Order: sequence, then structure tokens, then C-alpha cells
Amino acid sequence: MTERKVRVRFAPSPTGALHIGGVRTALYNYLFARQHGGELIFRIEDTDSHRFVPGAEEYIIESFRWLGIKFDEGVGFGGSHGPYRQSERRDIYKEYVTRLLDAGKAYIAFDTPEELEAKRNEIQNFQYDSHTRLQMRNSLTLSKEDVDRLIADGAQYTVRFKIEPGMEVRVDDMIRGEVVVKSDILDDKVLYKSADELPTYHLANIVDDHLMEITHVIRGEEWLPSAPLHVLLYQAFGWTDTMPKFAHLPLLLKPEGKGKLSKRDGDRLGFPVFPLEWHDPKTGEVSSGYRESGYFPEAVVNFLALLGWNPGTDQELFTLDQLVEAFDITKCSLHGAKFDYQKGIWFNHEYILQKSDDEIAGLFAPIVANNGIDESMERVTQVVHMMKDRVSFVKELWPLCSFFFVAPTEYDEKTVKKRWKEYSARQMTELAEVLEGIEDFSIEGQETVVMKWVEDKGYKLGDVMNAFRLALVGIGKGPGMFDITAFLGKEETLRRLHAAIDLLK
Ligand code: GLU
Repeated sequence: MTERKVRVRFAPSPTGALHIGGVRTALYNYLFARQHGGELIFRIEDTDSHRFVPGAEEYIIESFRWLGIKFDEGVGFGGSHGPYRQSERRDIYKEYVTRLLDAGKAYIAFDTPEELEAKRNEIQNFQYDSHTRLQMRNSLTLSKEDVDRLIADGAQYTVRFKIEPGMEVRVDDMIRGEVVVKSDILDDKVLYKSADELPTYHLANIVDDHLMEITHVIRGEEWLPSAPLHVLLYQAFGWTDTMPKFAHLPLLLKPEGKGKLSKRDGDRLGFPVFPLEWHDPKTGEVSSGYRESGYFPEAVVNFLALLGWNPGTDQELFTLDQLVEAFDITKCSLHGAKFDYQKGIWFNHEYILQKSDDEIAGLFAPIVANNGIDESMERVTQVVHMMKDRVSFVKELWPLCSFFFVAPTEYDEKTVKKRWKEYSARQMTELAEVLEGIEDFSIEGQETVVMKWVEDKGYKLGDVMNAFRLALVGIGKGPGMFDITAFLGKEETLRRLHAAIDLLK
């Protein structure tokens, strides 16, 4: 067998917002494609028209654009293996269904839903398979004439895959190794429904993977039970030479570790499970997204990459290119990965630290302006420089930093009680005089003079600084006092000091 160019695909069904687990699946496909010099295809699996949700496809494309995950081919990207939307490939699937029927590898079944229900009630754990198919109404039990007449009369039917019993089906999984399943446990899956003239997921999926020359199928663990059927379909078509290798990724679990991560967990604990905010067109419900919550796309990618895979070292921070370099699909874990959303917040904090002050200031400046403050970019950047190590999101900066731009109009009651002593007004008045006389109002310039004054007077440094902070900031926390005063400048510092003395007596 000649080496084929690596081609992988991400094949979502447009049934709503893309779940964060789907994002991870796409990311792993992307990393695998890039590291093998291969191609990533974006296919839309929309054969189930009942579950189609308008806007979902656009949402998915926009999500990956935001995350920086680029596709080489597919819906919205073009390519030579199209169309990439399954609803536009009906004729192709029909041809392949006919092929299986002609080869005797599939058969036509006329059983109505009621008949199937009756069978299920009659036989415990009923399964449509080699043991039961001869008791049913299908082209194996009816004469050719009857079958033709039923179809001519417009009877609805399905096409079922005829699975031979007594075989061992081998799934070559890059994470799990060889998974062997006995064909007897599989049922004769429906491949096609005459009612909507559409194939089911299984047939469309296999035919497309074959025609699109997919070499590796990387998808969520929930598809593992379908894999033996997919292998058998490849064999039935005679495509074993080009059968893709599989990788079924570990589940994303609830933060507590038990059970599959759901949207409800996000609602309950307050974190998004979707990349972008999603407006459900049917219910009108709005679900939060990572983008709108203030996460950086790089942080989300980094966080997701490490849910189910780790590099085997202590390194946690990876750019997308570094991930391409380090990622190894065979080292994915077999067990589900706990969705530790706090870790996601940590990643965002790390990316704030990594990014330049200028970049963060560019994001913070509009927030400052929205609060009615007219400040130069240079001054906004100075504040970012002092404060960014204290936040995980840019939006957390304003509540923490507003005092740099707006003088306090009130003083935190508890802090006043604790920090404003009966002698504080007197000390602060003296301090104002000391500051007044300082020529060099830089951090160092003030520090030397103020420290000497405190020492000469025999004051307690803590007392002085706590009252000073309260006067300038309004609360008991913040960066170094002289960082603040150097930023505010002499005039504003004295103004705030006097205002506090007046108000607090
Ligand atoms: N359409 C399936 C999904 O929504 C694709 C599964 C697969 O990758 O084979 O996840």
C-alpha cells in the first residue's frame, strides 16, 4: 500500500451551538493534519433534516475563525471533493446503496414502526439481525415480485445492512489499540430511508470518508460503538485498502469528574460550554460563550489541548504551533478528562501576563473610554503595567483600576474604622506638606523623602501608609502607594489627600 497524504475531517451536524468537546475534536484533527503535512476537511453532516437548526453552520465556521483553527477544504472553504454538505450529495449515496443491494450486502425492509414495536414487545432485547431477520417483512423473506409490487405501490421502506454472524470485527484505534468485536452483537443497521430519500448517518459518513480520501478518523468516544459497523461497511464496499485509522477521543467529564460534561454544568457553575455566545433560534435562550466571556482564543485552544492529552513534561503553555510540534494522538488518555474550568481561567491569566502591556491596553482603553474617562494610551498602558498580574480577564481591570482615573467619592466603611485613627487627619496634613515640598515626584524621589519624615517623627509606617491609601484609593487594597502617587501626580495626590482629611475629619 502506498503512503497516502494524511487527510482528516471534522464533520459536525448543524443541530445547534458547537459544544466545547466538539471544539477539542476539531483541534486534535487540526494538530494531527498540520504535524503530518496533511489536510483538514470541514464536512457538514445534515442528513437528519428534523434536527437541522438555522444558523448553526455559520456559528461553527465563525467559532473556528475566532479560534484560529483553519480548514483546507470544505463548506465555506472550497476544494475538489465537494459538495461538502451531505444534503447536497443525495444522488451519490443512492448509487452506493444500490451497489450494496446488488451485491446482496444489504436488503430492503418494509416493517412499519408498529410492526417493529410489536416485535420488541414479543421478544426481549429484540435486535434486527441474522437471528431475527427471517421473521420480518423484507426482501429476504418476500418474493422479488412482492418486493417490486410494494415499491411500485409506494410502500415506505428502509435499506438495512446485512451483517454476517460469526465474524470478528477489528477496529484499529490509535489510542485504544486494536478493538475486537463479534459481529453477532451488531444489528442490521438502517442505511437508507425511502421516506426522506436520504441515507442515515452511517452510510453517508463512510461513503464520504471514502470519496474524500480520509486517512484518519479522529472523533469523540461516543462514536466508538459505531466503529465496527463502519469497518464492516468499508469491507462490504471493498475499500479495505484505504480504510482509515480511527482515534476515539476520551470524553470530557463534569468538573467533579463523574459523568459527561453538559451545558447544565456550565449554567450551574458559571462557565461557558460553547466557544461563542449562542442565541437559540427556537427558544430564544442565550448561552454564554468563551469569546464573549473575555477569554483569549489562544488560551481556550491551550486549555482544550491539554484535556485528554499531555506532553509528558511539566510544560503547560503552548502556542498553536508548539502544539502542532508536541501533540501525539497515540498519547491521548483512555479515560475521560475532567473539565477543570478553573484551569481555563488560569490559562487566560497566563495569557494576559504573556501579552504585552500595549496589547492589553488596546483592549482596556475602550472600557476606560466607555466609563467617560479621557486618558492617553500611554497612561492606560501604565495602569495595565501595574495591574495586569492581578486579573484573569481584561474586564476585571476596570473595577480594580478605576481609582487611577476617578478620585474616590466615598471611603470603605470597614477600612475607615480600622485604618483611620484619631491622629490620621493630623498625620495626613503633615504628609501633604511633605509631599508639597518634593521636587522629584517619581517613585524613588517621593519614597526617600517620605520615609525619612516617618522615621524622624517616629510614626508607625503602617499607620501612615494605610491612611494614605484609604485617602487616595477609597479602599484598603491596591498597588504600591508611590506607584499610585507617581501616576496621579503631585496635584491630584494632594487634592485627594485634602478631600479625605475634610471628609473623614
Ligand atoms: N456528524 C457526526 C457528529 O456530529 C460525526 C461523527 C464522526 O466524526 O464520524 O459528531
